[in-house]
Amino acid sequence: MSFFESFAQIRGILKSIDLNAVGKLAKRVDLNKLIGLVMKMSDADLAKMVRLMQAGEGKQKEAPEVSGDFYQLDNTLTEEDREIQLKVRSFMDSEIRPIANEYWNKAHFPMHIIPLMAKLNICGLTYQGYGCAGKSALLEGFIAMEMARVDSSISTFFGVHSGLAMGSIYMCGSEEQKEYWLPKMQRMEMIGAFGLTEPEVGSGVAGGLTTTCKKVGDEWILNGQKKWIGNATFSDITIIWARNLDDNQVKGFIVKKDNPGFKAEKMEDKMALRIVQNALITLTDCKVPEMDRLQNANSFKDTANVLRMTRAGVAWQAVGCGRGAYELALNYTLKRKQFGRPIAGFQLVQDLLVTMLGDLTAMQTMVYRLSQLQDGGDLADEHASLAKVFCTLRMRSIVDHARELFGGNGILLEYDIARFVADAEAIYSYEGTKEINSLIVGRAITGESAFV
Ligand SMILES: Cc1cc2nc3c(=O)[nH]c(=O)nc-3n(C[C@H](O)[C@H](O)[C@H](O)COP(=O)(O)OP(=O)(O)OC[C@H]3O[C@@H](n4cnc5c(N)ncnc54)[C@H](O)[C@@H]3O)c2cc1C
Repeated sequence: MSFFESFAQIRGILKSIDLNAVGKLAKRVDLNKLIGLVMKMSDADLAKMVRLMQAGEGKQKEAPEVSGDFYQLDNTLTEEDREIQLKVRSFMDSEIRPIANEYWNKAHFPMHIIPLMAKLNICGLTYQGYGCAGKSALLEGFIAMEMARVDSSISTFFGVHSGLAMGSIYMCGSEEQKEYWLPKMQRMEMIGAFGLTEPEVGSGVAGGLTTTCKKVGDEWILNGQKKWIGNATFSDITIIWARNLDDNQVKGFIVKKDNPGFKAEKMEDKMALRIVQNALITLTDCKVPEMDRLQNANSFKDTANVLRMTRAGVAWQAVGCGRGAYELALNYTLKRKQFGRPIAGFQLVQDLLVTMLGDLTAMQTMVYRLSQLQDGGDLADEHASLAKVFCTLRMRSIVDHARELFGGNGILLEYDIARFVADAEAIYSYEGTKEINSLIVGRAITGESAFV
């Protein structure tokens, strides 16, 4: 290559350089020295550099990582807790994601996952003793989010067993009851359910339970019906809440599945959380020994203590459902092309994505603080209720926008998002509807109870 050819080539390179970028570069390197080095390069190296620069120009832009954790809350976990979170994430991605739609469609529960889930060693995560890890409510929240991010049914199954059923025994059981049941439930050798709602009494359970119990000798006789009871078609035990005919107070009982007075029928044809097996339970002169009455459940206040703890978990679940939907949608918009380019590049699409991310980030930071209050022993009913109301409302909006971004594919089960849209409806209603949780917050901030 002649001097003039080399010079023309270098001039070509320099002309193609963005002067703003050169300005920035000049602050970091000695440009004179750099040009001196280029001038000393052999023809072969110079040609190689030109090829590399040209290849760089044609290189496809890499999309940023798809993540709903915009404020990097995951990074605030300790190394040990982060490991647990990632273990759950990997379980959900490898064992649940591939089968979720199939089981949702069949409305079956994948029983084979129970021993696999047991290996995660995460049941009763926040309880002290009885084989439980004594971890923070914050970590438990992250786990609920990780599960719902992939499938809300599995997260509900887990929440009912580990939160509502184990929690009732942990908070309302005697020492002997805790020693007997909790280690088995922690290892998932025994699965639990929680029976509070009735066919005619949902929001009004605090004062209106119609299921009754009566002590006869050293046995209790239970009569009535329970509706919507998750896991109860196959659970080993169901915690049944009933009103004592003698003192009108609510009591809790550990009822075993083979009790002759206990019948659990699967509720069919749900349009949400189809993997969760909800049961209609009928108790007909169901005899329960005194030793299986929760010894420290003396009124509905004790039931409410359990619900306060699990309501915070449902808010985290809503975050997970929203996060999963946002990530599915973002991923789809990067791949789906219309008018010759990914739809992620359209302004109106980005507007929807940013609206979703704003909601999601607000939800995440809210439940994060909620768990800090819980860990500090300062969680009040109204704190959990506000998070449940806000997060489930925003979750509904996120799944709606996400489904919109999928166009027609948004209503096909194979694209996953349809399952998220449907499942969000159940999360929106259970553990206290929007209205009931709003009334709880309204009472706290005004000092006036608007409950009838
Ligand atoms: C998928 C699923 C799983 C569930 N799992 C369980 C479980 O495992 N165990 C269990 O015990 N329960 C469970 N539930 C029951 C759940 O907690 C109830 O559905 C919920 O508490 C609402 O009760 P309800 O459905 O009877 O509605 P209702 O109480 O009949 O309410 C109907 C409507 O009236 C409104 N309303 C009621 N009272 C008032 C008021 N005072 N002011 C304003 N509005 C009012 C409600 O907000 C709602 O919009 C589950 C429910 C679902 C959907």
